[in-house]
Parts: sequence; C-alpha cells; structure tokens
Amino acid sequence: MSVVDEEQEKEVARAAAALSGATRVAVLTGAGISAESGIPTFRASDGLWEGHRIEDVATPRGYRRNPGLVWKFYNARRANVATVKPNPAHEALVRLEKHFAPGFTLITQNVDGLHRTAGSRNVLELHGNLARTRCTGCQEIRNRGLEPLGDDPRCLTCGEALRPDIVWFEEQLPPHVWDKAVDAAMACDLLLVVGTSAVVFPAAGLIPLAQESKTPPATIIECNLTQTNASGLADIGLYGRAGELLPRVLKHMGV
Ligand code: NAD
Ligand code: ZN
Repeated sequence: MSVVDEEQEKEVARAAAALSGATRVAVLTGAGISAESGIPTFRASDGLWEGHRIEDVATPRGYRRNPGLVWKFYNARRANVATVKPNPAHEALVRLEKHFAPGFTLITQNVDGLHRTAGSRNVLELHGNLARTRCTGCQEIRNRGLEPLGDDPRCLTCGEALRPDIVWFEEQLPPHVWDKAVDAAMACDLLLVVGTSAVVFPAAGLIPLAQESKTPPATIIECNLTQTNASGLADIGLYGRAGELLPRVLKHMGV
C-alpha cells in the first residue's frame, strides 16, 4: 500500500468508527455524488455550466429575458437524467438510512432526483427537482416526469407560462424544506458532506451550523475528490470518489 492509500484507509476506518458511534445522522450532498452516474457537476473550470453563463440559465432575470433558452437548457438536463442511474454512492446512503432510521436525514442540493430513485426516503431537496414545473400564473406545481416539454410549456390548469420548479440563484429556498434541513443539521451528532464544493449558500451554511449548535459539536465527515471550502471544518476527510469510498466505509461498519 502506498502512503496515500494507507492515509485513505485510516480515514475510512475513522469514518466508520464515527458513524458507528452516532445516533442522529444528517447527510448533505451536492452535484459530485451524481458525477459517477454521468451528470456533469457545475463548477467547470471555464466558469460556464454546460456552455452557458449561469446568469442566463439559472436566474430569474435570465428566465424573464429568454424563457425559451432556459427551457432548452433544462430540457437537455432532463433528457440527460432520463438516461442515467444511481451509483454506489447513492446506494450506500440508502443503506445508511435503513441502519439509522428514524435518526437519518438526507439533505441534497441536487435536482436530479437520483436519491429517491435509489430508494432514499427522508430526502430534503433544497433546490427543487428537474421533473417538476411551476406555473408563473397560478403557481401550481406538477410532476411532469423527464419528457421534453418544448421551449414554451404552458400550465395545464390556467394556460400561463411554466418554469422549472428549481431554486435559481438570487431566489429563496422553499421555507418548509429549509426549516427541516436546519432542524436536522442542528440535531445531528454526525454530518456527512458528500460531493459539494460548499460555495452555494445558504446550503453550505448547514455545515458550520451542525458544528456550532451543540456541545459536543457534531462530527463532520467530508467526502470529495478534492479539498473544498468546507475542509477546514471537517474532522475526517475521505478524498477520492464517493462511489468507491462510501461503500468501503459501510463495509468497515459491517452495514
Ligand atoms: P459543484 O458542482 O459546485 O461541486 C461538485 C463537487 O463535487 C466538487 O467539489 C467536486 O470536487 C466534487 N466531486 C466531483 N466528482 C466527485 C466524486 N466522484 N466523488 C466525490 N466528490 C466529487 O456542486 P454543488 O456544490 O452541488 O453546487 C452546484 C449547484 O448546482 C447546486 O445548487 C445544484 O442544485 C446545482 N447542480 C445540480 C446537479 C444535479 O442535480 N446533479 C448538477 C449540477 C449542478
Ligand atoms: Zn397555472
């Protein structure tokens, strides 16, 4: 075993021990957990998201300026998600939930729905879901699956324009979902942070919240390809692919 492998194996064992000693577990996931399923993450080095400027496709202003472009972008995201499957990292979190339930909450920034597809049940989707539309007139929310909806989809109830039921930059998170996430972060004795760059707020604020809101502070485990903004807060660091590392942690726990 190389020095790097030995270091990683030690952290896997520490993570397994910390989890085994926990009773209330919260997990915060980001785009990285779906990367091994074939969904591109967000912070490409060129600052673009699938070739588009963020402000053009993921802000209310971008939608007002050019709703057709925004729908083209989201129809492509929907089509991509329709072709992919959950990976071993999603599946490991399903097994963790079975082990810790009811003391288990999965908080995700992802909009791809893969946690539920994998079988996770107590899932808080902070940023919405690609399968849902929201009417700009009557505000009705519907699940429309992942079929393409065209460049100008209309509300089936009132005929007004639809938008994706996604939380864009500059928008508020749905309060009932956010409040539950805050409760879970404050109550957990262990927070596992997987595949997020921890730069999108308020989601990233759940990490210090978990740590600061009680004595002793919650143990923070980070699982990511690289160090992030949150690494300074992490007690245990699993650096590598989530789809490889999380199943190894569970194996160590005997779960
Ligand atoms: P991000 O793209 O900013 O960061 C992804 C993180 O995942 C990075 O830190 C990267 O190092 C890590 N990563 C990549 N591959 C990994 C792997 N195999 N194992 C472990 N870690 C890995 O993602 P974010 O922090 O979630 O912020 C992006 C925003 O964009 C979110 O608000 C989200 O709603 C949205 N988004 C969602 C999806 C999705 O639903 N799958 C995809 C792209 C963007
Ligand atoms: Zn309507």
